[in-house]
Amino acid sequence: MNNDIEQVLYSQEEVNQRIDELAATLTAKYQGEFPVVVPVMTGAMMFATELMKRLPFKLNIDYVDVSSYEDNSQSSGRVRLLRDLSHDVNGRPVLIIEDIVDTGHTLQFLNKLFASRGAKSIETCSLLDKPARREVEVNADYVGFEVPNEFIVGYGLDYDGLYRNLPYVGILKRSVYEN
Ligand code: 5GP
Ligand code: MG
Ligand code: MG
Repeated sequence: MNNDIEQVLYSQEEVNQRIDELAATLTAKYQGEFPVVVPVMTGAMMFATELMKRLPFKLNIDYVDVSSYEDNSQSSGRVRLLRDLSHDVNGRPVLIIEDIVDTGHTLQFLNKLFASRGAKSIETCSLLDKPARREVEVNADYVGFEVPNEFIVGYGLDYDGLYRNLPYVGILKRSVYEN
């Protein structure tokens, strides 16, 4: 698996240190707010697990699963909900946890969905941000690292179901997916 990585962008140590910082920021913000924390499966699983155990305040853990259509039909129709929340977010602060914000369609879809259900506030914490690829004007409120316009794997992010368990963030070799 490691042979398929072109370059390690952020080591396990660097990621963990950044998660400590993000957790401190979120703790200052959400202490006493009782948010519903919503990781987006499956990519955000590893990041969310590390982050949430560093949040020492009252919260509920839920999750959603979404899939994005690869066709270029309607921007609002590009995302489909595969697994919905089990919590009612009406009147509750919602904190979405993402692996990466790329085109922004997923985040826009979730923001609209939770807003329509009366969430008190909606924020996003994303491990990675790839601003070069944005197609809609939406941003994460808290970002671990910015990444270049390359295909990223590791720390939860996959290619064809693989590489999620790599404990670092890296660029996948083009030879793996071109051919
Ligand atoms: P969006 O384009 O809607 O912002 O992001 C949709 C999803 O595509 C992300 O949550 C992530 O799962 C996946 N994605 C976007 N860029 C990358 C990338 O560089 N590597 C991997 N493995 N997944 C990505
Ligand atoms: Mg994702
Ligand atoms: Mg994926």
